[in-house]
Amino acid sequence: MNFKSCARTALVVAAIVLAGAVGTARAAAAFTPGSPGLGDPYFPLAGNGGYDVSHYSLRLDYEPSSNHLAGTATISALATQDLSRFDLDLRGFDISRLLVNGVAASFTRDGQELVITPGAGISTGSPFTVVVDYAGTPSVITDPDQSIEGWVPTDDGAFVVGEPQGSPAWYPVNDNPRDKATFDFSVTVPAGLTAMANGVLVSSTTSGGKTTWVWRETDPMAPYLATVTNGRFDLTISTTSAGTPIYVAVDPQLPKGEVLSKLPAIVDFYSSIYGPYPFNAVGAIVDSAKVVGYSLETQTKPVFDRMPNEATLAHELSHMWFGDSVTLTTWPDIWLHEGFATWSEWIWSEYEGNKSAAQWFKQLYNTPPQDVRFWTPPPGDPGSPAFLFNGTIYYRGAMTLEALREKIADDGVFFRIMRDWATQQRYGNVTTAQFITLAEHESGLDLQHFFDVWLYQPDKPTSW
Ligand SMILES: [Zn+2]
Repeated sequence: MNFKSCARTALVVAAIVLAGAVGTARAAAAFTPGSPGLGDPYFPLAGNGGYDVSHYSLRLDYEPSSNHLAGTATISALATQDLSRFDLDLRGFDISRLLVNGVAASFTRDGQELVITPGAGISTGSPFTVVVDYAGTPSVITDPDQSIEGWVPTDDGAFVVGEPQGSPAWYPVNDNPRDKATFDFSVTVPAGLTAMANGVLVSSTTSGGKTTWVWRETDPMAPYLATVTNGRFDLTISTTSAGTPIYVAVDPQLPKGEVLSKLPAIVDFYSSIYGPYPFNAVGAIVDSAKVVGYSLETQTKPVFDRMPNEATLAHELSHMWFGDSVTLTTWPDIWLHEGFATWSEWIWSEYEGNKSAAQWFKQLYNTPPQDVRFWTPPPGDPGSPAFLFNGTIYYRGAMTLEALREKIADDGVFFRIMRDWATQQRYGNVTTAQFITLAEHESGLDLQHFFDVWLYQPDKPTSW
């Protein structure tokens, strides 16, 4: 119950009483534009107000030789206010047709905002469908930290990644991690190329010199975790011990990656400590795209710009629990992804009988306090989107978890916290405050000072 739902009930009653000429005029006046952004502290225009997307159906045709992408996006959404107008996020492209509920709608472009005015207002609580036909050259986005993302052409296709703001470079989207949705992909590429995407492979059909790859992601996914990385790939399909399909795609230009044979064991290990694997598929997309300079935890199949080492493979697979299933609400909480994934590298290393998480902690803790670049900014407050993927978010973030493990001094309790976090918040959006509440509740300790020192103070922690 909240004030808004009370007000709406009253309005409905009024409309019934006034049914007739006056009632219609009153309802029409209440329709207002959805906001152009959701107010994220780092990316205020990412995402849009007034609706929730439930499903994206993306039908794409890509020609690598000309870097030309043609698409039809069919977006199913639910209005969360009486909408006179709403935005999607999309960068570039020519739009040849835009329909809302099957009827042509007018639209304008303003930076990343695609501003859509349907012929009639959409009432709160109503489902509606948007169809966008678009074509052109997809873009490469340069982030505040100077890394690149979006649609990055390779020698045989494209490396497609969206964290934190690359998705509008290739599809119209409500680009905010809070608006998770299911996805269907139908991606047509020249025959001989493979188009990978999230979820389960439904079909691949070749005709007229082109192959169409159809993938389906039936679990909720934050829009930035979508990929349709394509090119020349050797695709191998197998299953985990729990029966989840594994799709491993490797660029044949790369040397054979023995490390990928560890993938099922890593997934089994994390399933044993964090709870059941959260998605309907798993795997890896290993491309030759060193210009990108990083790998990303695209949902169900992390994408790598080169053959990963074992730690990087483990890191990205652990993100399926921490980042993809349990997702931040706003970007400054990125340590909830990167600190957890880095600590996951350490616990895999410990499990395999190599360096333990405690040894990793000790080694890094020896970094002198004068080394400001190692200790600052603190992981809970990067301070700017330019520091979103700073080393401190990863290393000091992971050290925070290992310090918590040592403070609790009972692995049974600590591992229960990690598992409960992954299972209780499955498919959700979370905040650091919620993690602190869970840790305090399960440990029985007052951890306010501990987390303040580790997550928010700029200096090297000395007592906690
Ligand atoms: Zn990561």
